[in-house]
Amino acid sequence: MTLFTPIKEIPGIGPAYIKKLHKMGVKTVHDLLYHFPHRYEDFSKMIPIAKVKINETCCIMGKILEIESSRTWKKNMSLIEAVVEDASGAIKVIWFNQPYLTKTLSAGSNVCLAGKVMVKDKGVYLTGPSYEKMPPGNYTKEKLTHTGRLIPVYPETEGLSSRWLRYILRPILAHFKYKMPEILTPEIIKENKLIPISQAIWQIHFPDSLALAKKAQERFSFEELFVIELAVLKERMKLNQKKAVAVPLDIKLIKRFVKTLSFKLTDAQKKSAYRILRDMERPCPMNRLLEGDVGSGKTVVAIMAALNAIKAGHQVAFMAPTEILAKQHFQGIAKLLQDFKINIGLLTGKEDKYVSKKLPNDFIEISREKLLEKTLNKEIDILIGTHTLIQDKVKFGNLALVVLDEQHRFGIGQRAKLTKKTAEVPHLLSMTATPIPRTLALTIYGDLDLSIIGELPKGRKKIITEYIAPKDRQKSYDFISKQVKKDRQIFIIYPRIETPEEDEETKMPPLKAVKEEYEILSKKIFPDFKIAMLHGKMAGKEKERTMRAFKNRKTDILVSTSVVEVGIDIPNATVMLIEGADRFGLAQLHQFRGRVGRSKYQSYCFLLTDSHSQKTYQRLKALIDCEDGFSLAEKDLKLRGPGEIYGVRQWGIPDLAMAGLKDISLVEKTREAAKQILIQDPGLEYCPSLKQRLKKFQEGIHLE
Ligand code: ADP
Ligand code: MG
Repeated sequence: MTLFTPIKEIPGIGPAYIKKLHKMGVKTVHDLLYHFPHRYEDFSKMIPIAKVKINETCCIMGKILEIESSRTWKKNMSLIEAVVEDASGAIKVIWFNQPYLTKTLSAGSNVCLAGKVMVKDKGVYLTGPSYEKMPPGNYTKEKLTHTGRLIPVYPETEGLSSRWLRYILRPILAHFKYKMPEILTPEIIKENKLIPISQAIWQIHFPDSLALAKKAQERFSFEELFVIELAVLKERMKLNQKKAVAVPLDIKLIKRFVKTLSFKLTDAQKKSAYRILRDMERPCPMNRLLEGDVGSGKTVVAIMAALNAIKAGHQVAFMAPTEILAKQHFQGIAKLLQDFKINIGLLTGKEDKYVSKKLPNDFIEISREKLLEKTLNKEIDILIGTHTLIQDKVKFGNLALVVLDEQHRFGIGQRAKLTKKTAEVPHLLSMTATPIPRTLALTIYGDLDLSIIGELPKGRKKIITEYIAPKDRQKSYDFISKQVKKDRQIFIIYPRIETPEEDEETKMPPLKAVKEEYEILSKKIFPDFKIAMLHGKMAGKEKERTMRAFKNRKTDILVSTSVVEVGIDIPNATVMLIEGADRFGLAQLHQFRGRVGRSKYQSYCFLLTDSHSQKTYQRLKALIDCEDGFSLAEKDLKLRGPGEIYGVRQWGIPDLAMAGLKDISLVEKTREAAKQILIQDPGLEYCPSLKQRLKKFQEGIHLE
């Protein structure tokens, strides 16, 4: 047996189990060994039967005096009752719904039992204990698998019990006891005070102590992150060997563009634009992430890079995460570039559009074929769209720059696909308003260069953020009325589109839903105002019409789900009221808040929730106290982990690596180790086990 032996060749695993394991992604011995427990049950306290205490977990060892099965007449449940005795005394034992037990256990068997002692129908029973037959001969603790020690408990998966996994894993672990291939070098192990693989793999499944279990987890966290770092660095090495078009910087053009703006660029905007333009002058592909809080003005920075590339004779692809945002960018960019005679295309779905440089203010609807044709024959200078831009049908004649807006929404695989669109790799500029600690950004987005816009345009007022108790809802409505009468506009956000029949699971009050609330708001609460509704299930055209009406001040209040989350720019909006605020992550709430406060008017963000939990309160307080996206992101990272926030979940990376990503210093250490090894041995020729592991990771994660 090797690590690569398929599980179907392991004795004792039948076809039904193979199927279940495959479903979990466990295909080889390696996968099985790396299927780690998520906690341990402590059955290590072995005591004489006379010493057991009610309501306490204990482990006893003794002989079965009698055992019999029956059915309860009330619930028709299978019942097994036994009496077990040791030198100190005897105890009654009961199991529910495990009728097959009498096949393994019988009177006279020596057993070890671990579980809780409870009072039932006036008797004292050891209830549903974990059990195992004692091996003949002398009892040694090392021989126990289900009792008498720390017992691994695996994440629950239908039909695969922890007991079964322990039973299967135990002999495999014994087999690999001294021959588990080590993928880390002795130097890395020593420098980072890790335990070696043979010890770690045993201790993570069957630890001798919780301290050792922790050491084992640390080692695997390190190992998993280390492999990720290696993959990321290798990708970058590959990218560095590729060629890109060098785009000369036309400083006059840029100055002319800046003069057309109705505002003064911030220093941070100028600096990042300059770095980007300089990057693009080099003949190797730029891979830069532009981080800047909501409203910091990233779009205009990207447009400077785009304009420069276009006037040098190249094309630009501009990708946004949603249709609404793509359309908004299309209109905004057309306006920004109206003096520059540029052809702009919008490819979203059924409503492809086009701005011709001859008619800079008019949109022309054209067919998709036409648009694709114009893209291929370089007539389109900048093509804006959603993920549709990475479909194979979309071909550019001369693509030099790809801009990804709000790029944490795109998977790493999608990004890799995009950069493969042409023979020469286009320069890549990603933008995000989700501020990510630097090291983490480097890891999860690959080894990229980072520019940060750390300031907001001058004159913006701090957004006043307040928690509103449900009983004060009316006060916030009164406040909204006043704002609307001052000609300002309002967002109201709900966590759902429709109210479900009933929230049977959580027994929480049903979440407020856009459709119902829209009716109430428009008919009862604000009958004199113009109110519109927006949610993800509406047709694209309808969504666009609604957004446009709001943007053109045709409506006063927009009642919406989270579709307005990213990037929407309505400077006249001054109130963001969020219902069910506990349902959103901190980063997301911060994004919502960033929809207001984009003008000289004082803006407000109101948070409403029916949840009274301490955790909710803590999170909302963090948002109220903190206006800086970067420190909020760090708090969010600690509270929730990187999975949801940065879309890392879709990578399918192991849980321990995910947990490790929370620990910036660990990320740094693994990154350093990966760098060192690649300097010494770029092809990993001297580390065959590591090389194999890396390959497996790359295949599993769909980096390409
Ligand atoms: P984000 O970084 O969130 O994508 P945007 O690019 O949408 O921000 O810019 C937000 C708003 O700020 C836009 O209306 C934009 O025109 C405006 N803006 C950008 N830069 C400046 C600036 N330096 N001064 C004033 N307003 C600016
Ligand atoms: Mg934006």
